[in-house]
Amino acid sequence: MNTYDIIKCDGQRYPHIGAQQWAGGQLREAPGVFLHALARSVECRMTEEDKEYYMALALEESAKSLPACRPNPPVGCVFVRNHEVVAKAYTQPPGHEHAEAMALRLYGKSLEDVSAFVTLEPCSFQGRTPSCALALVAKGAKKVFVSVLDPHPGNRGEGIRVLRAAGVRVETGILKERVMSFIDPYLTYS
Ligand SMILES: [Zn+2]
Repeated sequence: MNTYDIIKCDGQRYPHIGAQQWAGGQLREAPGVFLHALARSVECRMTEEDKEYYMALALEESAKSLPACRPNPPVGCVFVRNHEVVAKAYTQPPGHEHAEAMALRLYGKSLEDVSAFVTLEPCSFQGRTPSCALALVAKGAKKVFVSVLDPHPGNRGEGIRVLRAAGVRVETGILKERVMSFIDPYLTYS
């Protein structure tokens, strides 16, 4: 049987074990199928609890943007790599960085092995600042978790569509009630 170097979610390297021997991740198929993934690192598995935990951190960050961010909504963004938080960010005053842009600057690297958690759907079009959805795509984002969809007429699902059209896997609705109860008064509906 072929052997591969496997880097598990804990960042530890397990050299030369067969893919089928490793039961901790998504490598239960035949060797070969996952060669591409194994060449770099193995995708981390996120449990529902993990997702809610990281989204709660993003929500905590978002509170820091008030009141300076207004009239923009207070958004938080957290980047997670190998179950480690590598960037935490929140919306800056109007004309300055949105939460995602700030996180991208703080992290400064490709998002290929990062899961991004954002409390609000990333913006799709350029306003006072560049589109966050496009910025995430440009930095190689592969997985984005979003809590609440943006009801703003200029967005309304377009941010999600931009991400998915670029091949990004997007999951929405994480911790939605909790995030909504915080962000709703600041959202633009018309
Ligand atoms: Zn934005």
